[in-house]
Parts: sequence; C-alpha cells; structure tokens
Amino acid sequence: MNIFHSATLRLTMWYMVILTVLSLLFSVIVFSLASREFYRPLGPRTVETVLQQLEPDTDIAGIRNARAQEAEHHLLSNLIVFNIAALSLGGLLSYVLARRTLRPIEEAMSAQARFSSDAAHELRTPLSVMQSEIEIALRDKKATKVSHEETLGSNLDEVHRLRALTDRLLMLANAKELQLGPASLEDVAIDAVGNVIPLAQAKKISIDNQVGGIKALANGESLTDALTILLDNAIKYSPEKSHVIVSAATKGKRVLLTVRDNGPGIDPKDQPHIFDRFYRADTSRSKTNVEGHGLGLSIAKRIMAAHNGDITLESRPGRGSAFTLHLDKA
Ligand code: ADP
Repeated sequence: MNIFHSATLRLTMWYMVILTVLSLLFSVIVFSLASREFYRPLGPRTVETVLQQLEPDTDIAGIRNARAQEAEHHLLSNLIVFNIAALSLGGLLSYVLARRTLRPIEEAMSAQARFSSDAAHELRTPLSVMQSEIEIALRDKKATKVSHEETLGSNLDEVHRLRALTDRLLMLANAKELQLGPASLEDVAIDAVGNVIPLAQAKKISIDNQVGGIKALANGESLTDALTILLDNAIKYSPEKSHVIVSAATKGKRVLLTVRDNGPGIDPKDQPHIFDRFYRADTSRSKTNVEGHGLGLSIAKRIMAAHNGDITLESRPGRGSAFTLHLDKA
C-alpha cells in the first residue's frame, strides 16, 4: 500500500477518534443535564397550579415519573441516532480532510523524487562519457601520449560540464531567502554583461547595455546571477552576429529589467514549461547542440521569487525573445 494511502487512513482514524470522543462527551453531558431536569421536583407554585386542575386522588408523582422515563428514553435514542449520523458523516469528512491535508506533502515529495532522478540523470551522462573514454584509453596498449592527452582533454570538458551543473544545483538550493537592500541596476547590468562577454565575443554577438541609474530593492549578487542567466541564454540560442539588448524601466512601484534577443524565439507550447527544472525545449535538446541542463530559468525564477518579484516572457517563434525581471523599486 502506498505510504500516503496508509497515512491518509491513519489520519482519518485520528480525526474519527477525536470526533467520537467529542460526540460521546457532548452526548453524556446533554443526557445527564436533561435527565436531572426531568426528575427535578416541581416548584411549589407549579404543584399548586397542577393540583387545582386534577382529580384529588391523582398520582402526580407516578405520572411525572412515567413521563420523565419516556422523555429520557426518547432523548437516549435521539442521541444514539445523532451519534451514528455524526460519526458516519464525520468519517467521510475526516477522510476528505485527511486527503486534503496530505496532498501538498505528497506533491512536494513526488516533485523531490522527480528532481533527484532528473539530477541523477544529468550527472550520469558526463560520468558515463568519461568512464567509457578512460576504459578505452586503458585497454589500448598502443596508445600514444597524444591520444592520452586527447582523452584527458575530453575528460576535462566533461568535468567542466559537471562543475557547471553542480554550481547550478547549488544555486537552486541556495536561492531561497535573500537579504534585500537598495541595489543599482546599472551595476548589476555591468557585472552581468561582464560575465557573458567571452561567450558573446566567441559568437560575435553585440550586447547593447541601456540600463541607467535606477535603484531596486534587491540582493545585488543574486540579481546579477538572474540577469546573467538571461543574457547567457540570449547569447546561447541566438545566431552569430546578432544583437542582444538589456534595458531597464520603471512602472509604478516596480522596476523592469529586460533582456531582448533576435534569436529563434520560443514555441508557445514550450513557453509554459521553460521555467520548470530540467525542461529544455526540443529545439535546444535535439535539433541544435546548445549545451545546458534546463536549470537556468528555474534558478532565475527562484531568485525572483525571493525578491518578491517575477519573471515574464514575450516571444514568438522566429521573432526573438524578451525576458523581463520584475521587482520593487528601492
Ligand atoms: P538551458 O538553457 O540550460 O537549457 P534554461 O532553463 O535556461 O535551460 O532554459 C530552458 C529552455 O528555454 C532552453 O532549453 C531553451 O529551449 C529555452 N530558452 C531559454 N532562453 C531562450 C532564448 N533566449 N531563446 C530561445 N530559447 C530559449
């Protein structure tokens, strides 16, 4: 039996126990109060009024007792019916409530399991490549120094990939609670552009940094990481010699930081998923060999959530993409 099913049953049982105890306690109290009331001696004025209306030799006490017994009997059967109804309905409600209580935990646990399996899968690929290259090199008795150097070079590339992946996994884990303060978007943009200059130069892509002196309520370092991710993607997915623009604007109490490229754009069917961990659109996983693990945008989203902010996308296939970071003005 699935652990959540048995946990739901256990929780239902606890709710039922609490409900039964309360319902029985309530019934016992009602029954004893009511019984006491039934047998309470009549007040002198009531006796007087009753006596005036009855035959002189009527057995008042006997009638009263019979009446009280009957009332007590009715009360008892009503309370039993009430308890049975309360417990049947309560059982059903308890089960529904137990399921609702446990569902978010179940979802969080299965997301965690999915994440671990995706992470393991991403880690296994470079490790398998390294393993087979090393095994082949060791088996090859005629291997020269040059071929060993080639193997080591290729292994080093895989190590870099693994390093980048573990850095991103750490970023994802750490971007939860951030210290926020006034941060200059101009400085953030300069640092983020500086981080991607080598990549842009390798593809002869020009970056137009139009960010002026706006201040936002942010954690400068993490915001730089988020902007670097967007710039990194804009360069990775755009063709050579294209242009990337980074700009900032204010809108009411918010500031918007936008990275615009004229790359391939993102298919509307992929757009709802690209912020999911390990999601890569088909075009980036199979058709082009752009490197990545599908973690960048989920990290950027996490960083923005820690800023009480958001990240949005406007894109059309063939018309480029514009990612915007939204956060509070300082
Ligand atoms: P990665 O880039 O490592 O694949 P991301 O989470 O940064 O992971 O991006 C998820 C996916 O979103 C990418 O695989 C790609 O398909 C798509 N994507 C992100 N940015 C862009 C962009 N500027 N242009 C086109 N596609 C993009």
